[in-house]
Amino acid sequence: KVVTRFAPSPTGFLHIGGARTALYNWLFAKRNGGDFLLRIEDTDRKRSSDEAVDAILSGMNWLGLDHTGDVISQFARADRHRQVAEDLLSAGKAYKCYATQEELAALREESREKGLPMRGDIWRERDPSQAPEGVAPAIRLKMNREGATTICDQVQGDVTVQNDQLDDMIILRADGSPTYMLSVVVDDHDMGITHIIRGDDHLNNAFRQMQLFEAMGWDAPIFAHIPLIHGPDGKKLSKRHGALGVDGYDEMGYLPEAMRNYLLRLGWSHGDDELITTDQAIAWFNMENLGKSPSRLDFDKLDSVNAHYIQTADSDVLIDWFKADLATEIEHAPTAEELAQVKLALSSARERAKKRADLAEVTAIFCNIRPLTLTEKAAKAVAGEIAEILSELASTLENLSSWEQGDVKQSIFDFAESKGMKMGKVMQPIRAALTGGRPSGDLMEIMEILGKEECILRLQDIAA
Ligand code: GLU
Repeated sequence: KVVTRFAPSPTGFLHIGGARTALYNWLFAKRNGGDFLLRIEDTDRKRSSDEAVDAILSGMNWLGLDHTGDVISQFARADRHRQVAEDLLSAGKAYKCYATQEELAALREESREKGLPMRGDIWRERDPSQAPEGVAPAIRLKMNREGATTICDQVQGDVTVQNDQLDDMIILRADGSPTYMLSVVVDDHDMGITHIIRGDDHLNNAFRQMQLFEAMGWDAPIFAHIPLIHGPDGKKLSKRHGALGVDGYDEMGYLPEAMRNYLLRLGWSHGDDELITTDQAIAWFNMENLGKSPSRLDFDKLDSVNAHYIQTADSDVLIDWFKADLATEIEHAPTAEELAQVKLALSSARERAKKRADLAEVTAIFCNIRPLTLTEKAAKAVAGEIAEILSELASTLENLSSWEQGDVKQSIFDFAESKGMKMGKVMQPIRAALTGGRPSGDLMEIMEILGKEECILRLQDIAA
């Protein structure tokens, strides 16, 4: 059975790279009817925080990446990690290291001069009976120095390192705390992890981790080290690019399904397909199609993917978004009548919307209460004699027997002609009067949806 995991360190929000790693592991588990586990790597107590754990959980929840079973805390498993270090010691595969900082510094200097890898192996062959008194030892893994370690990486291909290049790494510190390298290997083994998809910044760790798996006689998981995400400028993604948590993307109006689609394509491909639903992704996801070169964050692309999911969303869902986003647009809860108008307007607004909030932005005009508050620009557009013209237009429109878009337009056209005005010169103040200068869509559609009475009243308000 396939078992994958996401193993974030809780030192900040769930950023886009982590979200993509989580998504891939989730998809691979789903694709293979396996489990996707969540392990919080909280052993660095100074840098870890509960807020960060919450942010990661809520980010995953928003993205819809559900995990199997309980959240596993790596720190809570420290006793088990210590036990494995003791086992390796008893089996002669690890040894106690009493080297002082000074000795290690000198060794490091010497290795550098000779151009050799730093091994920290002073106590590897030393007789433990020579141990200094009162010094707590660290435990180091007696790394295999023969031959080479090869990782058959699903993305990078076979990657080999000569074993004599690897140092005798510390697995348990002198203060009794397990190192990251030990904890990861023990946890991945105990959790029954079969496949690990993670950033290629962990590739070097993988060689050392392989040696630990071997020393314990455990099967190592299959690795897939994916290239990191780069910013639009091609440089490694960082705070400079306005790196955000996934909740930031939620706030900006991106939909979780659009985010999943976008993140999927940011490092994985299925022919030329750009729009891939989550169901399709679950059916198709594989390691073979993981990209080998870093992908660039592209907000235009994200916008167009998002726009697609807005266009294809259920109309009930659109109304829910409208209500949720409306708080920032108007002060009152919309009435049933207003909502009915909004619903009509949404069907064309969705065609142009890139972000969720765009919908509420261009349809809020149906919930505005007369007399509208005009923006400075709108006020200018209806100032002076234009106010009088609008009120004349209101009287003309009052006589219309049909409120069909074509008839209304014809009537405005005739009115403009009788005044010797260009159509555009009339339309601009009409829009200002009807919308108060707020973002808005097609004017004829707005007039149709607002209805004759409301349009006339809004036009008359200007002169009043
Ligand atoms: N905790 C590591 C990180 O957040 C991930 C380790 C792993 O996936 O093996 O980068």
